[in-house]
Amino acid sequence: MSNKVNYAKELEKKIDCFQKEGRYPSLLLHACCAPCSSYCLEYLRQYFDITVFYYNPNIMNEPEYRKRVEEEKRLIAEYNKQVETENFEGMNSDASARKIEIIEGDYIVSDYLNAVRGLENCSEGGDRCTRCFELRLEESARIAKENGFEFFTTTLTISPLKDAERLNRIGDEMGNKYGVSFLPSDFKKKEGYKRSIELSHMFDLYRQDFCGCEFSRLQREKEKADLAAKDMQE
Ligand code: SF4
Repeated sequence: MSNKVNYAKELEKKIDCFQKEGRYPSLLLHACCAPCSSYCLEYLRQYFDITVFYYNPNIMNEPEYRKRVEEEKRLIAEYNKQVETENFEGMNSDASARKIEIIEGDYIVSDYLNAVRGLENCSEGGDRCTRCFELRLEESARIAKENGFEFFTTTLTISPLKDAERLNRIGDEMGNKYGVSFLPSDFKKKEGYKRSIELSHMFDLYRQDFCGCEFSRLQREKEKADLAAKDMQE
């Protein structure tokens, strides 16, 4: 029998409790990019008072980093406009949706490079990513505690390429370390990933085709070149 935790169900159980209590807990939502945030925000803004925490020093290329932050801000502005005008046409959010704030974390690429030193050549999904998750979730936990948030979590679990079990375990560890609760999540479930693609089209969001670090960009370039070479042979 599988002992796998269904983190999406765990989140639903918590939301049910908050709804029964008639409250909207404060949540610091670590966000990696606008496309991944789109579904997470559409869903969570009905149940939480959300502040997005944009902390991603893993995006080594600064213009790419700036582009992703600006898209995140644009998406939040679109969602806040819906709340102001009470117009949720085409959305799965209802009238309980709340406005969203954003905090931008420090952008110091050397913090990321120090965290992954010696693991640069790992494939995506390997130990380099574990360190990268630890770095970003530790800072999220620290900021959540410092600013009095009840919960923190991350949009990273929406990616089919990212291990939800690992992210939830690291989130719990960092939450325990700083004394703030990590909200369990697996946003790809309940068609969350599919919905994020729909929303990305709806808002015409910039969707990068690599995770963030230069190593992931090079890996993606190689995969594309290998695929093109294979097509030529067929
Ligand atoms: S592939 Fe993504 S998660 Fe992994 S180290 Fe690079 S930026 Fe971080």
